Amino acid sequence: MRRVYMDHNATTPVHPEVLEAMMPFFQDQFGNASSIHWAGREVKKYLDEARENVAALMNADPQEIIFTGCGTESDNMAIKGVGSTHLDKGRHIITSKVEHHAVLHTCQFMEGLGYQITYLSVDREGLIDLEDLRRSIRPDTVLVTIMFANNETGTIMPVQEIGEVCREKGVIFHTDAVQAVGKIPIDLKKLPVDILSLSGHKLNTPKGIGAQFIRKGTKLSPLIHGGAQERNRRAGTENIPYIIGLGKACEIAKRDSQKRHEYLRSMRDRLQEGLLRAIPHVELNGHPTRRLPNTLNASFLYVEGESLLLNMDLEGIAVSSGSACSSGSADASHVILAMGKSPLVAQSAIRFSLGLTNTAEDVDYVLEAVPRIIDRLRAISPLYQKVSPSRV
Ligand code: PLP
Repeated sequence: MRRVYMDHNATTPVHPEVLEAMMPFFQDQFGNASSIHWAGREVKKYLDEARENVAALMNADPQEIIFTGCGTESDNMAIKGVGSTHLDKGRHIITSKVEHHAVLHTCQFMEGLGYQITYLSVDREGLIDLEDLRRSIRPDTVLVTIMFANNETGTIMPVQEIGEVCREKGVIFHTDAVQAVGKIPIDLKKLPVDILSLSGHKLNTPKGIGAQFIRKGTKLSPLIHGGAQERNRRAGTENIPYIIGLGKACEIAKRDSQKRHEYLRSMRDRLQEGLLRAIPHVELNGHPTRRLPNTLNASFLYVEGESLLLNMDLEGIAVSSGSACSSGSADASHVILAMGKSPLVAQSAIRFSLGLTNTAEDVDYVLEAVPRIIDRLRAISPLYQKVSPSRV
């Protein structure tokens, strides 16, 4: 059976060049970057180079990049680190209802500590309202944390404008850019962002490496205390092989960015057009144009997303339904519900997220299988028989 992996927003395979770059650092170059002898010095040189590559992908300065264990850690560090540093100003944080759980659950934790959190609503396409943001900022607001691009729908937030509002009001702005980095251009010399989180395994490194951009002069306390690594911002001996891998992944993403973007968009559009042509009662979720080039989220009405996912899995196709990442829970996606869509639409949502190894043949395979599976599932759906009795 053919296997088609279209769940790259969940994770990506390791790029062969990334793996190759990492290998020497498991055995030959095993030194501790903090050691002053030759073994440490050699490794430190490569650590610095990796930091330069991560910075270069986003047009940041290398001193503004620190390495973390994952995207979740970076998000936690931004929220807890800023929250606990600016107590003299207040305990109010603003976020949105469509954030990843790495942000939402951290905000809920902060609520338990006595912080007040404002969860901004989004419109039907998944965008926050800038006036709503402006109105929500109070004298005691210490942080605005709004994601760059949504992991479920691919909708890209107005990060430039959000940053401008935050600058004007003197509030620190953090963005969870885990899904955006490497997929769309990011220029941190132009974007008014103070802190930005990213994760390696969404851009072809192994799982377990992340990074944080912290603009010069931004004050936040570390999440992990201990040694003086990472300019005192994140203690713990650096995970050199994985850091080297992330540096290489960023170098490749910068080198191939235009090519990648065009390729992913053309594959995604071929998939989208084919599905919309072949299947009635399909609703797209997310912004039609302000969207990651690799992401397609669609609700196949009158079909349970989980059943569709399992049936696709039987045919070798790996995708995700809004609820899949919450450990098998069948709850409807909080993102799609927050966009004002009905539970029926939310429960029938499927996310296709394409990657570099997907081919036109993969897309055609999916286009052959999905309409057939949907026909079968709708034939046994009592809801569908009510709306379209002639088709069953
Ligand atoms: N933020 C977003 C938007 C994500 O999509 C993810 C992962 O799916 C994370 C944060 C968490 O990243 P990590 O898996 O590296 O902890």
